[in-house]
Amino acid sequence: MISSNTSFIALIGNPVSHSLSPIMQNAALQYLGLDLIYIAIPCKDEDLELVLNSLKKINCKGLNITIPHKEKVFDFCNEISPIANKLKAINTLKLNPEKEWSATNTDLDGFIYPLKNLNLTKKQSIVLGSGGAARSVIQGLINLNFSTISVVSRNKSSLDELIKNFANQIKIQGLLSNDNQAQNLIEEADLIVNTTPVGMKTSQYEMNTLPYGETFWRSLKSKTTIYDLIYNPAPTPLLKLSTKKGCFTIDGLQMLVAQGMKSLSFWTNGLEVPFHVMNDALKKYL
Ligand code: NAP
Repeated sequence: MISSNTSFIALIGNPVSHSLSPIMQNAALQYLGLDLIYIAIPCKDEDLELVLNSLKKINCKGLNITIPHKEKVFDFCNEISPIANKLKAINTLKLNPEKEWSATNTDLDGFIYPLKNLNLTKKQSIVLGSGGAARSVIQGLINLNFSTISVVSRNKSSLDELIKNFANQIKIQGLLSNDNQAQNLIEEADLIVNTTPVGMKTSQYEMNTLPYGETFWRSLKSKTTIYDLIYNPAPTPLLKLSTKKGCFTIDGLQMLVAQGMKSLSFWTNGLEVPFHVMNDALKKYL
């Protein structure tokens, strides 16, 4: 029950109305019996500093940060974890004992969670897209000891930047999406991860589209695992096609839940909830 002692955790972004975090986090907070609620606060770019400073002064225990503030928020944090620094993005904040923001990034843990029990050492991978999520994905593939990463993107400048960033850590190459060589790579890949928003349920995209179009996928074989970071619709057009071809598939819901579990643990100094508590809350809602 919400009382006059109840504190809160908030998601800060713009927009936030589509976010599923309040659903799963409130289920987890209730499961843990904490006097805390989770809310979403829309915040424009120009208000970010004011909002973050104001939240320090009231009964806010922690924050999630989403688009478009994941990079800008660096300017307002006193402590930043090595992984947030490496990924150049922050998605979780809490107040330290000095009442200053301490920051981290839980997307990497979220991405790895569904892959943990698969044997992927020395395997070949492809990442589609070269935006923010691709960074966590590439770092995750490095941590999981993949032998090669090929990043396919339509955006030459962000692709070059990404390859430069990770070049000394693993055998990594960048390809533009219209490069014919991509066909051979798809045929050989053990894992393909889609980090583009293509296939997502929004007014911006046709619901039935595949990343880089249908012909891009013609050499896909059943031995390849397909991981789509998108969780709505479930399954995405890419996962539908992959299932038809006999591939093992993973959707973005597990990553969403796992990064949320990790954030909750950060805010509560180590408390844990079972995966199914947050996952079931989302499945019931979707
Ligand atoms: P982002 O920074 O905007 O990057 C998106 C990437 O996809 C960019 O390389 C972009 O290229 C490319 N792209 C966009 N539209 C495209 C199109 N029509 N065809 C081909 N490429 C296209 O976004 P993000 O933060 O990385 O997020 C990407 C996706 O991952 C979103 O759908 C997001 O919801 C999902 N995600 C899921 C989770 C989860 O927990 N499951 C976590 C993080 C992200 P340009 O630069 O040329 O636009």
